[in-house]
Amino acid sequence: MNKQIQNLSAVPFQDTVELRNEMIACGLHLRDKLGYFISSWGNISVRVEEGMLVTPSRITYHLIVPEDMVLLSWEGRRLSGNRVPTSECEMHRRLMLERPDVGVWIHHHGPWSSVLAGMGKALPVVADDMAELVGGEVRCAPHVVAGKHLELALAAQKAIGPDAWAVLLANHGVVCGGRNIDEALACCQIVEKSAMMFIFGSLLGGVRVIEEPLWREERERYLFRYGTLEDVKDVLQENTSKQPTLETRPTKTGKT
Ligand SMILES: [Zn+2]
Repeated sequence: MNKQIQNLSAVPFQDTVELRNEMIACGLHLRDKLGYFISSWGNISVRVEEGMLVTPSRITYHLIVPEDMVLLSWEGRRLSGNRVPTSECEMHRRLMLERPDVGVWIHHHGPWSSVLAGMGKALPVVADDMAELVGGEVRCAPHVVAGKHLELALAAQKAIGPDAWAVLLANHGVVCGGRNIDEALACCQIVEKSAMMFIFGSLLGGVRVIEEPLWREERERYLFRYGTLEDVKDVLQENTSKQPTLETRPTKTGKT
């Protein structure tokens, strides 16, 4: 793997009311607009300076208030919050530890990734945006009986690998990540769309999978050049040395 990518680490967020509200808004969007969260099934974690902030267990998103978020230490202790953390908090914690390049994880049971999860099948890189934002093949962790939280967490941690910001969970759902909430949300949408492409394409006679050297090239461009003048220098007819470097604006939550 490219050394630059290998050394990436997400910048932790400050635990603020605004951040907690963004987590709630994200959950509502996933439930009401995208249909990936169903009732209270679906959870979010954010890497913050003190540890990991997670959504509470078994409360529907329209009832959650900022104080309901639970702050956990990296050792898995509850540092603050009166609610029970999501039952999948250990999976979030282990994925955060396994992948320091990810700042936000979203776990959901969306329809297209669930088809692949039901088959226990990995999702190969089938689209350019998947190569760029998801960053590689999405592997599938073996099935774990619901309620065996540690077993599920270990299976997800083992399966994710060093590249993709996502991992499928057999007969269950998917976990998607990013450096901030917007990116993790986009990752969820691209995994769903790519899963649909893969499933329909397979039914229609075969899917064209992007070869590894090519998806790696696309990923590297997304992470280090996309949005800069360097990225368009082959087509932009101007003296780029006179132009200021385009800065990546932070997203609502963000520090990308
Ligand atoms: Zn789940």
